[in-house]
Amino acid sequence: MPAKLISGKEIAQQIREELKQEVEDMKAKHNVVPGLVTILVGENPASVSYVTAKQKTAHALGFNSIQDSQPEDLSEEDLLALVEKYNSDPNIHGILVQLPLPKHINETKVLYAIDPDKDVDGFHPVNVGKLMIGEGVFLPCTPAGIQQLLIRSGVETSGAEVVVVGRSNIVGKPIANIMIQKQKGANATVTVCHTRTRNMKEHTLRADILIVAAGVPKAVTADMVKEGAVVIDVGVNRIGKTESGKAILCGDVDFDAVKEKASLITPVPGGVGPMTITMLMLNTVKAAKLANGLL
Ligand code: NAP
Repeated sequence: MPAKLISGKEIAQQIREELKQEVEDMKAKHNVVPGLVTILVGENPASVSYVTAKQKTAHALGFNSIQDSQPEDLSEEDLLALVEKYNSDPNIHGILVQLPLPKHINETKVLYAIDPDKDVDGFHPVNVGKLMIGEGVFLPCTPAGIQQLLIRSGVETSGAEVVVVGRSNIVGKPIANIMIQKQKGANATVTVCHTRTRNMKEHTLRADILIVAAGVPKAVTADMVKEGAVVIDVGVNRIGKTESGKAILCGDVDFDAVKEKASLITPVPGGVGPMTITMLMLNTVKAAKLANGLL
């Protein structure tokens, strides 16, 4: 029987409705409004559209949200000063610097300058370390979204064999770290595969839950998937354009063939994608609570 779809769109919508209610309650009971600033340097079209989507969602949830657009030639020093300004602004709880930054700016330096308590992307080493020791507050958004997809789809993770394909700092490593924690929605046995993995299929075939973040179209084919596995496809690959100029997307999993073997599978688009912005909003609400002694 073909797999059931895990709709990231529906689950993200559900979480957004919960957050909207939470924001209304915070406002009414504590006079606190979550504040998010998105800093965009330059006019990279993809970055502009990501930042616009983040701002739109933040507004819809009732946040105090600021879009701070800066010119491409902004100096590193000026960007660091801007981050510092928001670090000390009590009305701003979350700071997001949209990546990539122009080449003359050291991304690491800028990300490390963000106050860890305002690091709603979860990329600061303090937050990476906290995640590692099971005390994570701001989990990176895409991996946190994957965990929510599993929890809210009723997938049993405790004791499950989880195989992650990819070891990037934004998806592969953090999702592996999340899934091994001694916590609800985790407690899994985790294997991480990458380009140096010998015989990847040997690993993926053992997976009860297969999470693929390789950035390679159809890197996972049906012969690599166990019957009944839950398959989470993180990949977003642009493989062409429609006549009207819209990008044609595909994941890292050979969806049509794999859906015949899996029990649950995420589509691309409409799977992991919608969860990422939603988890950014969740992190901003957490940051506002943290700053006001409500967490
Ligand atoms: P990345 O930084 O390029 O990392 C890819 C990882 O996959 C690397 O660790 C690489 O191994 C491994 N890999 C590549 N090809 C492989 C193969 N054939 N077999 C096994 N491992 C392989 O990518 P990323 O940032 O993690 O993103 C991965 C995908 O997720 C991309 O398509 C990206 O667009 C998408 N993504 C989606 C969202 C969302 O919100 N939906 C968010 C983030 C990323 P090595 O380390 O050995 O090179």
